[in-house]
Amino acid sequence: MQVKCNYCNGKQERGEMYCDTGKQRKYYHHPCWPLELERRIDVEKEKKQWKDLIAFIQEIHNLHEIPRTFYAFLQDIRNGTIRFQGPVNQQYKQGVGYDILLESYRLSANGIKWAQQNRDFNGNVFTELKYGLAIVKNNIGQAREAHRAKIKIQSSPVGVPVEDRETNYKPRQHQQNITAFLKE
Ligand SMILES: [Zn+2]
Repeated sequence: MQVKCNYCNGKQERGEMYCDTGKQRKYYHHPCWPLELERRIDVEKEKKQWKDLIAFIQEIHNLHEIPRTFYAFLQDIRNGTIRFQGPVNQQYKQGVGYDILLESYRLSANGIKWAQQNRDFNGNVFTELKYGLAIVKNNIGQAREAHRAKIKIQSSPVGVPVEDRETNYKPRQHQQNITAFLKE
């Protein structure tokens, strides 16, 4: 009997497939299974990024809850959906990641605070949120740069195990490297 691969939707004999016995029995091509595991990790990562983003927006706009209608705007940026004119150009996850959006919100925090004090939103939460988002969109390029710089620091030699082996022989030099790195 042929079954469908839950990763690529291709069909193959059941006996030749990997079976994931989680909550439900699901079949995967053997080469598709590691890709599926990666996908699941990405899904979890994105869930956390979304939670962090929402928490930050709530905090900066002093809201207990964000109107659900605003979620669509954030998801559109994530997916790269364009809704200006004509038929909606639906895309999926082609846009800006929620981690970059959060970075951009951080960079825009002062601008948003300024607008809250100086603009009249007539108590309209949605207008204020959209105004904030316009500032955030303008800062996305800068946010990407900041994000890239952070990743560079995280993947720097400090904390790389291979380096540790070397430091057993020259601890002093390693110490200097860290100091130099921190000064940068
Ligand atoms: Zn497959």
